[in-house]
Amino acid sequence: MLNLDYEIRYLKNIGLKRSQAFAKLGIKTVEDIITFFPVKYQDRRKIVSIKDAYKYLQECCLFVKIGRSYEKTLSHGLCILDVEIFDDASMSYVRFLRKKKQYSNMDIFIPIKKAFKLGTWAYIYGSAKLKRDNRFIVVSDYEIVKNKNDNPISFNKIIPIYPATEGLNQRFIRETVKTVLESSCELYPELSALIPNFKNIPKLNSSIAIRKIHYPNTLEDAENARRFFALQEFFVLETALYLARYNVKKNLKIQKYTIQKTLLTTFKNKLKFEFTKDQKKAINDIFADMQSIYPMNRVLMGDVGSGKTVVALSAILLAAENDYQAMIVAPTEILAEQHYRAISNMLSGINIKTVLATSHTLKKKNVREKLLAGFATGDIKIIIGTHSLIEDRIKFKNLSLIILDEQHKFGVMQKLLALDKAVSPDVLMMTATPIPRALSITLYGEMDMTTITHLPSGRTPVKTYSSNEQFAYTNAIKELKNGNQAYVVYPIIDESDKLALKSAVQESEKLSKTWFKDFKVGLLHGRMTSPEKNKIMQKFKNKEFNVLISTSVIEVGIDVPDATIMIIQHADRFGLSALHQLRGRIGRSAKQSYAYLIDSSNSEASCKRLSIMTSTNSGFKIAEEDLKMRGPGEIMGTIQHGFPGFKAVDLIKDIDIIEFTRKIATEVIERDPTLSKNENTVLKKVIYKRFLNKTKFINVR
Ligand code: ADP
Ligand code: MG
Repeated sequence: MLNLDYEIRYLKNIGLKRSQAFAKLGIKTVEDIITFFPVKYQDRRKIVSIKDAYKYLQECCLFVKIGRSYEKTLSHGLCILDVEIFDDASMSYVRFLRKKKQYSNMDIFIPIKKAFKLGTWAYIYGSAKLKRDNRFIVVSDYEIVKNKNDNPISFNKIIPIYPATEGLNQRFIRETVKTVLESSCELYPELSALIPNFKNIPKLNSSIAIRKIHYPNTLEDAENARRFFALQEFFVLETALYLARYNVKKNLKIQKYTIQKTLLTTFKNKLKFEFTKDQKKAINDIFADMQSIYPMNRVLMGDVGSGKTVVALSAILLAAENDYQAMIVAPTEILAEQHYRAISNMLSGINIKTVLATSHTLKKKNVREKLLAGFATGDIKIIIGTHSLIEDRIKFKNLSLIILDEQHKFGVMQKLLALDKAVSPDVLMMTATPIPRALSITLYGEMDMTTITHLPSGRTPVKTYSSNEQFAYTNAIKELKNGNQAYVVYPIIDESDKLALKSAVQESEKLSKTWFKDFKVGLLHGRMTSPEKNKIMQKFKNKEFNVLISTSVIEVGIDVPDATIMIIQHADRFGLSALHQLRGRIGRSAKQSYAYLIDSSNSEASCKRLSIMTSTNSGFKIAEEDLKMRGPGEIMGTIQHGFPGFKAVDLIKDIDIIEFTRKIATEVIERDPTLSKNENTVLKKVIYKRFLNKTKFINVR
């Protein structure tokens, strides 16, 4: 008897090669196979006559008797096999084309000849071709039956089409799924008793839903079953997330803060601006969390330039006022150093020890010793660093607040390591990646959430054009002459043979001799070392360069107020979210800024994509459109590694389900917070299995 975790490489007929191909599709176990759902369906319920096939000239199903075959060799080893086919009214040929290997005597048509034997019956899925006086049918799939009345497996019904990969054809995937379904579908955990009715989604058993998704009677049937399965998947996820929040809330923390206003007021008075309404609200939320008896577990979302840093710094100062240590971790050294500079600047004249701790500083022996000593005595209050800070086995005296900036750049493991630095730390995750609501619920569902929606006033929205080079460079030069600065961004560093794309290195040479010959041009790319990158960025900030030619390494966090121009070459090669992040590097002052997107593909699709960029500056709107165009899989992939994938959920169609399951999940956990009642046994098992790598958050055993 199989079980759901049984590895398919041990199944009969699969073998090593194919199991490796399946692994590429993320399929390793019996459970993976039965929930490997079709991407679409092919309706093979209707059989047409040969005569009609030549009328439609489109893919259709035929049922025919096999006649004789004829073989021809054309030039270059190209071989043709025509096989006679008959139905009640007419006859024609199915044609197979194969190329013979040089010097080979092997009969390349053996498998086909074996199948298409004189006098047998065949179901054919294919399309008729009319070429001059040549008429034949090209076969995309077939099934041979011995007797006319035998029931076919893959015809007379709606057929699933699976995501394919090299080394696996549809037919083999279909057969494997079908065999495994038959033997193991009933093993799938049954949760339907816990799930109340919702809208018109039928109540099914798991196994029936799974079968119907693979082999529906009608397309409506398939969609209903998919919705049911999605409901179940989301119910499990939301229960797990709610459980996680519930458990975080259960641990009381040790640290206590009172607002003393010693540091905070001085800091506020020194700031050159007022907090925006959204910033005030964010600070209020965070202070309330910090003063609560439970650890803070909050995510702060805010578009690029919305001013998250001063919010974070307020939290840091509340910790410091109460004699605790606070740490802010950035995903890159450039960003960490920028934070360090900005924060030191804002805190100048305030007596509080702030350090930068990156792999660079932590490696130097004498610096390291000083830092470690300061961390241990509690002398150092504010620590700004990168992931090496969390990967290092550093001890702190009384670290109470951990802030992760651009948190989506950190992996799950890094986050866990960060949280391990203190006993019950207050945690604030910040992100500038605006994500649609549906996704934010699934990604941050175990956290409280604050969003900064409005940018500080006094910003002039960036004007964005989809343009040609001439227009972009001419306008750039006008701006440069006014003392402003420009970024030119390329998708690749060096010229490559494979892609006919302009690259940063080659073009920087060209541009500095042509368009930008009167200006100073700098170059920045990801193969430079961190100190090199910093030096270039600093020079650009100090206006030693007017133009910075770069790859997307400038994507996050860089703040150069006089940069008012951004030209993005091969804009079609970037995702919308990446473009938005890049564009966020300009428009950082009251001056008018301009972005020029140069589309090298000129395809309709990329034109449509880029028009979203020219029509809005809202990161949330862009993310929403990105989700619609690219699909959630890809976005989830880029946002967070190691997040459990959905099998049937459609994040666009199933928003209603997400909201509904969130509610019922809450009810389940509040009734049974440890999931120990009998009715929840299966649910508990499923959650534990699915979120094994997140058990620290979720705490189910
Ligand atoms: P992000 O949210 O992208 O991290 P930053 O914190 O880097 O944004 O802020 C972007 C810029 O806006 C900084 O130069 C910062 O000093 C400035 N800023 C932040 N808050 C305000 C405000 N309330 N009014 C004016 N400028 C602000
Ligand atoms: Mg930032």
